[in-house]
Amino acid sequence: MNKFIPLMNPLLTEEDIDAVVGVLRSGMLVQGDQVASLEKQLCAFTLSPAAVAVSNGTATLHLALVVSGIGPGDEVIVPAFSYVATANVVELVGATPVFVDVDLRFFNIDVKKIEEKITSKTKAIIPVHEFGLACDIHEVKKIADKHKLLVIEDAACALGAKDQGVYTGTVGDFGSFSFHPRKAITAGEGGVIFAKSEAQALKLKALRNHGMEIVNQKMEFPYAGFNYRMTDFQAALILSQLVRLRAQIEYKQKLAEVYYQEIKSSRVILPQFDERNKNHTWQTFHVLVEDADRDELITLLRKEGIGTNYGAQCIPDVTYYKNKYQHQSETLFPSAYKSYKQGLALPIYERLTKEDVKYVSATLNKLLNN
Ligand SMILES: *Cc1c(COP(=O)(O)O)cnc(C)c1O
Repeated sequence: MNKFIPLMNPLLTEEDIDAVVGVLRSGMLVQGDQVASLEKQLCAFTLSPAAVAVSNGTATLHLALVVSGIGPGDEVIVPAFSYVATANVVELVGATPVFVDVDLRFFNIDVKKIEEKITSKTKAIIPVHEFGLACDIHEVKKIADKHKLLVIEDAACALGAKDQGVYTGTVGDFGSFSFHPRKAITAGEGGVIFAKSEAQALKLKALRNHGMEIVNQKMEFPYAGFNYRMTDFQAALILSQLVRLRAQIEYKQKLAEVYYQEIKSSRVILPQFDERNKNHTWQTFHVLVEDADRDELITLLRKEGIGTNYGAQCIPDVTYYKNKYQHQSETLFPSAYKSYKQGLALPIYERLTKEDVKYVSATLNKLLNN
């Protein structure tokens, strides 16, 4: 058997590792100058007015809801196909997630279906830039403005992606990113939240740190906060990788081209390739498989030395949501349901070679053509 090609294998260079060791030797482990520097660099990179680094990409979404005062009785619109965290945070503040189906060509929220879900209780929309492709965020923002709703961009997978030349996470009122190992840049765990003003960032900073503010050089606790802090060695690790982000995205775009050329099975539906995909950052190369048992295919691919998985969940079909809301997902959210049941995430990352992509493609062709 060939070497095993995992679904993800993040590249950490000696420089990245040295950056972490440097912080460990310094003794300043939590929220020192590296966290502050990361926040500054991310703002410079994306032209976001403010950024707050936190412990993970779920904490960012949670803080955005908390700081906006969203809670019981409120409704928040989320795509039916995403990672469960997108909806879990809405449940965690006691609000109700209202699901909208996705566009099967791109796996992002179907903007045409948002307005019909808006009620007098709707407070916010959490659009997701799924798999590293910017959704129609400018359209979402227009709808939100018309109905006076907040937009919290879940850009966990889409650092560096753009819509209409503008970076994801900077169009909405808040932008949320994750540094989990499945994302473009990783610190093991980590997240960052973009905000629109320094005042808002200060409140988010207080909430991430037990609700603490420094007033006249004294600690005050005006809020009941969380511990959602990021360590300085995580921040250093992210900063070190940030300089490679552009090159990493361009490399993955080349790998994606190889998938488009080499996958020939008619039972594999590739994401639609058009103008939009030029800005795809390819956190995941996600396809649909037709007339095949997707889970069995994952097992067969594993036997051929290839790690794959489903891409994201049809959230209303996940046990908790199914039990609570009893949605008939297959009929209410057909595209999300199909993306969940027939979706397949293929490897795409810096350490992967074009030869690897050709091998994955050829194996898929072989397994699905007979
Ligand atoms: C990964 C991910 C999250 C959660 O990020 P964590 O850092 O793992 O908490 C949220 N939303 C989406 C769309 C994600 O892909």
